[in-house]
Amino acid sequence: MRYVSTRGKAPEQGFLDILLSGLAPDGGLYVPAFYPQVAGSELDAWRSLSYADLAAAVLRKYAADIPPADLEALCRRTYTAEVYGHGRADSDATQIAPLRRLEPGLSLLELSNGPTLAFKDMAMQLLGGLFEYALAKRGETLNILGATSGDTGSAAEYALRGRRGIRVFMLSPHGRMSAFQRAQMYSLQDANIYNIAVEGVFDDCQDLVKAVSNDLEFKRRCRIGTVNSINWARVAAQVVYYFKGYFAATRTSDERVSFAVPSGNFGNVLAGWIAKQMGLPIARLVVATNENDVLDEFFRTGRYRPRKPAETQATSSPSMDISKASNFERYVFDLVGRDPAVVRELWWELDTRGEFDLAGTPWLDRMRSSGFVSGSSTHADRIATIAAVYRTSGVLIDPHTADGVKVARAHVEAGVPMICLETALPAKFADTIVEAIGRTPERPAVYADLEARPQRFDVLRPDVQALKRYIEARVNP
Ligand SMILES: *Cc1c(COP(=O)(O)O)cnc(C)c1O
Repeated sequence: MRYVSTRGKAPEQGFLDILLSGLAPDGGLYVPAFYPQVAGSELDAWRSLSYADLAAAVLRKYAADIPPADLEALCRRTYTAEVYGHGRADSDATQIAPLRRLEPGLSLLELSNGPTLAFKDMAMQLLGGLFEYALAKRGETLNILGATSGDTGSAAEYALRGRRGIRVFMLSPHGRMSAFQRAQMYSLQDANIYNIAVEGVFDDCQDLVKAVSNDLEFKRRCRIGTVNSINWARVAAQVVYYFKGYFAATRTSDERVSFAVPSGNFGNVLAGWIAKQMGLPIARLVVATNENDVLDEFFRTGRYRPRKPAETQATSSPSMDISKASNFERYVFDLVGRDPAVVRELWWELDTRGEFDLAGTPWLDRMRSSGFVSGSSTHADRIATIAAVYRTSGVLIDPHTADGVKVARAHVEAGVPMICLETALPAKFADTIVEAIGRTPERPAVYADLEARPQRFDVLRPDVQALKRYIEARVNP
């Protein structure tokens, strides 16, 4: 499989080449040159595979430059009951992503039983293994630099801790994360993890990362890389659980299912779109947003209008508080018939006018028939949904998943199972859960003493030179 840029002006690359890089050199995103088809007897054969072997089967189609035996070994080391057994006490950890019935026609795909109790572990743990594999093969090392307000950073750290050839420098806003989030990251004692608490807010952290990344000479000298949501391998690893959810909800491969996905950067639901392009019988892909409804607006009207940071609200489903959706360009590329000239034109409009609108173009009808529907949720909806689901099913869901369930309900069709993707466990968002049901959520046993564990971090002023000195001293001593 070769990868092409959505903007059409970058050289084609292989899976391992794009694994360690970010944007394509022409500013686009790398996408597979075509979508491999899985149907008939192959789809039937996948039904009985373990999660690890299913992952290897899916990824083999995208990672042609990794020998199948290596890929299978990587997947079997990653998708174990040990790695994905951190979640609900009554979950079947051997299933990796078990399906839990909420009410007739609606179930929950449990994706939050990994080490950081959020769905990002599903792909990130594999990415850690892939990075280690690719670097060893090339005899290279890599230093990951990132900024986090909580979730993404901890998923990356838990995926990369103890890996050979990799260091992680993760910036977080000093004193501005929840005690749980702070403890989750800062309690890691692995020598290759550097937690840097910046005296500032999340935007300061992001600005520092940008400033360092713009210094190309420094970046090269210190071998700086990133793990962000546009990483193709992450998206590919997420495709796997759509197949898993489908098999769990159906008995034969002529049935259809729909998925509801709490969305931010459009990475999670993009993986569903790709599964559908591969031939998985998906009826609807329900995009659920919170008050930051950029994506809901697009799927209702065809108008894509990213918000300014100041227009982006801080909500009680914080991991969906985005101003623009970084993976969205990959879907638009498919929507416009994979014509990079059209993508370039749309993104030129976006850069000059701040938005584009598909109304009056042939792409609007295509969007309407692509299976995507959408809706948004408010704080009040979230609270009511958490309380109602708990009352009727006894299952406690987190605020992001609640946005998914709320929007899913408006799009259920008779005879088509609706699967809502669980994006985090309620234990991570205790305040909102207390507001909804009047008590704190249970915490998985492995995290019982989390805040009491010793913490390891360095405090830094928001100063680019200080950050560069900090990194240089550790990578080129
Ligand atoms: C990352 C995240 C999301 C958003 O997923 P995208 O792939 O960015 O659309 C939703 N919920 C939780 C809990 C997350 O961590």
